[in-house]
Amino acid sequence: MTAIRTAELLSIGTELTVGETRDTNAGDLARDLTGRGVVVERITALPDDLAAVTAGFRDALARADLVVSTGGLGPTPDDLTREAIAACLGETPAVDPALDRWLRELFTRRSLDFPETNAKQAWLIPSATAIPNENGTAPGWFVERGDHNLVVALPGPPREMRPMWQDWVVPRLVARGLGRPLVSRTLRLTGIGESAVADRLGDLLDAGRRPMVATYARTDAVDIRIWTHAESSQAEAEALVDATEVRVLELVGDHVWARGETTWPAAVRSLLEARGWRISAVEIGLRGALLGLLGEGLAETLAFGETLTERPAPHDGHPASLEHMAERVRELGDSEIGLAVEARPRGGDTAVTVAVVSPDGSHRETRVVFLDGSLGRGRAAIAAAAVLLARLRAGAEDAAP
Ligand code: ATP
Repeated sequence: MTAIRTAELLSIGTELTVGETRDTNAGDLARDLTGRGVVVERITALPDDLAAVTAGFRDALARADLVVSTGGLGPTPDDLTREAIAACLGETPAVDPALDRWLRELFTRRSLDFPETNAKQAWLIPSATAIPNENGTAPGWFVERGDHNLVVALPGPPREMRPMWQDWVVPRLVARGLGRPLVSRTLRLTGIGESAVADRLGDLLDAGRRPMVATYARTDAVDIRIWTHAESSQAEAEALVDATEVRVLELVGDHVWARGETTWPAAVRSLLEARGWRISAVEIGLRGALLGLLGEGLAETLAFGETLTERPAPHDGHPASLEHMAERVRELGDSEIGLAVEARPRGGDTAVTVAVVSPDGSHRETRVVFLDGSLGRGRAAIAAAAVLLARLRAGAEDAAP
């Protein structure tokens, strides 16, 4: 049996093709398979229609080493996945006595009559093995035919599908040889748009290049991913990715704030924890965007947080400066860092001023972010986190022996 290198995913159910249910299953499976070095070549959603689902399996099997479907394993007439796989492989389903007993016991234990429509959940075809379902009445199918490609059929509900995939299917696929080692690195950038990143990277983004380089515009960052499958050895793949990373850093390194899946609060928190510090923050005009971004993730390192709609009225004729406000919350929270951030609309965009006071000194900076309203406030919160992170890093470098 050759290793599984390519896969296609089928998401089955009219509820998906009419937009009633969002297909999260295919995304979850694609991410997992990709991380294991399998190339997911296609994801297809299909309605509950026997001809369409049968054709879906037939076409996918003609192309990919592995076909994984979710949905359509229920007891009702519109659940057609078993019928479609059987038709596509030219096999006839029959009730499996062991599955039938298990299924009937599920109902007896709950003192329920067994609806005969459920009997088809005990079906198997000769080349299928049942995948046990601990959280529902729909067993999956693991279909192997000699040296041919594989079909895995899983139920639709994610809480049933996920454990069956992780605990039962993946170990069996790994034992047969799943994917190729993959070397992958992600750089997280801020303060630059995706198109400007693409401009700077130039031909590094060319399709077919090895390693591959791609950009992704996310809400909290522009990510650059550099990856390749190991062809001759893991070390060779690592060396290729290292060399490309050096080139990428030369071109956009000034905007990189993190690696991998690091979030803003995780990045800030690890610097605070390294120095045994805590932070207090006040945000003005952000409607909770800053505390929403950082609060939960800062956990115990957040000593105090406050949201104001506008700057407090002048006291003794002196309006509170942002540095004063940062000092004030720092005292209120009895913490080492005080952060005050104020956002206001400016000509369709949002201006954000950030004041940070810390044992390393005091800093104030204004930036303008794209758009106003809720999107602008979200970006202002990220800009504030970026200023804070840069100050903490600069301080940490000075403090380093
Ligand atoms: P069961 O018999 O346990 O219902 P099933 O395989 O018949 O299993 P479906 O009837 O196709 O599953 O779907 C049941 C539910 O699972 C849907 O109502 C939906 O909530 C969820 N679901 C189905 N497919 C997906 C999907 N691709 N992504 C996320 N959720 C899904």
